[in-house]
Amino acid sequence: MAIDFSLTEEQRIFRETIRRFAEQEVAPIAREYDEREEYPVHILRKLGELGYLGVKFPRELGGAGADTVSATIMAEELGYVSAGIFLGIYVHAFLALNAIARFGSDHQKETYLKPGIAGEKIGAWAFAEPDAGSDPGSMTTRAVRDGDGYRISGTKTFITNGSIADFVVVTAVTDPQQGMRGLSLFIVEKGTPGFSVARRLKKLGVRASDTAELAFQDCWVDRGRLLGEENVGFANAMRTLTEGRIIAAAFALGTARAAFEQSLKYAKERVAFGQPIGQFQGIQWQLADMALELEAAKLLTWQAAWLADKGLPHIKEASMAKLYATEMCARIAGQAVLLHGGSGFMMDSDVQRFYRDCKVMEIGEGTSHIQRNTIARQLGL
Ligand SMILES: Cc1cc2nc3c(=O)[nH]c(=O)nc-3n(C[C@H](O)[C@H](O)[C@H](O)COP(=O)(O)OP(=O)(O)OC[C@H]3O[C@@H](n4cnc5c(N)ncnc54)[C@H](O)[C@@H]3O)c2cc1C
Repeated sequence: MAIDFSLTEEQRIFRETIRRFAEQEVAPIAREYDEREEYPVHILRKLGELGYLGVKFPRELGGAGADTVSATIMAEELGYVSAGIFLGIYVHAFLALNAIARFGSDHQKETYLKPGIAGEKIGAWAFAEPDAGSDPGSMTTRAVRDGDGYRISGTKTFITNGSIADFVVVTAVTDPQQGMRGLSLFIVEKGTPGFSVARRLKKLGVRASDTAELAFQDCWVDRGRLLGEENVGFANAMRTLTEGRIIAAAFALGTARAAFEQSLKYAKERVAFGQPIGQFQGIQWQLADMALELEAAKLLTWQAAWLADKGLPHIKEASMAKLYATEMCARIAGQAVLLHGGSGFMMDSDVQRFYRDCKVMEIGEGTSHIQRNTIARQLGL
């Protein structure tokens, strides 16, 4: 099999344009929105207008029809400037819209996917519950058949875009006897009676993202809101999340690269004991290790994306990329703060933000423990 690490001309141009957007539109507001703990909805809308939110979706649905490698490029470039702002885009485009593109009816694609790609409607992905994050078998949100629809009751928590979303892809138990084989996905619109935002949540990092707890109390939705087949929700959610893990890895890669580049620059400028700190071998080795880890994470991420594009099995590779890139990001961001000394600990530095932002990458989309479990299962254990 041929090995080619070069980007195509299309991918290279795509990287240049999304990088320019990130530098011009996102970087200047990243710190401000982190401090305000508010999501800049106008960025998501603009990405929609420019066609980026549909990077992976077919042209006939309003997408760009590009490949997974292109999607990782977008995640890396936006993750480079703001993990918090990209998190909202990630959940909207790569989880909520992706699930609708894969499993939605024509009507659902017209109603949610097309306006979602255009940035006119914002989506959220509501899987986690107060007592069920890693363990979906403990999910208690119920959807009970009622007339020509379902009545949903339960609580979802830690939901990104929760308070700003126009619609939410919700996982609920439709057959309690079947455990994880009794879950289904639903699309619930903002304003549906019985559905409310219980509270907005404050966080350690990714503070420019919106996170909320959502409440469903006898929330009735018609049958047309069932996404995919009844009781196949777990398998469909896992298919969506497997692809999501590749994007999550690229996202971590972006934040880690930002932390590394700022550290490299600082090591050349900051003088101690009469010389730039980058002249000390201890610092050189630290930077060499960062560069090495970044490269390894990039190769794992691109490999998983390439396998996905070829239609080849990639569950293990997606988990490996997500696990390695997110843990690498946390290591590099931690070292970047140390390398910047006291100035890296101050709130007006970027590296403190990278340090706070990275932790969630090891938690969301399946924690590092869960990725190791997935890899072990793929090894036949
Ligand atoms: C900022 C933020 C945004 C989020 N956004 C979303 C979102 O948009 N939508 C959504 O649905 N969810 C979202 N989440 C939730 C996230 O996916 C969960 O927090 C995550 O899956 C972990 O679940 P938990 O918090 O219940 O932890 P638990 O599952 O209770 O885990 C606690 C600890 O036990 C470990 N553990 C659990 N089971 C095992 C096992 N079998 N083997 C070894 N270790 C294990 C875990 O790794 C972890 O270290 C978000 C979370 C955060 C922090």
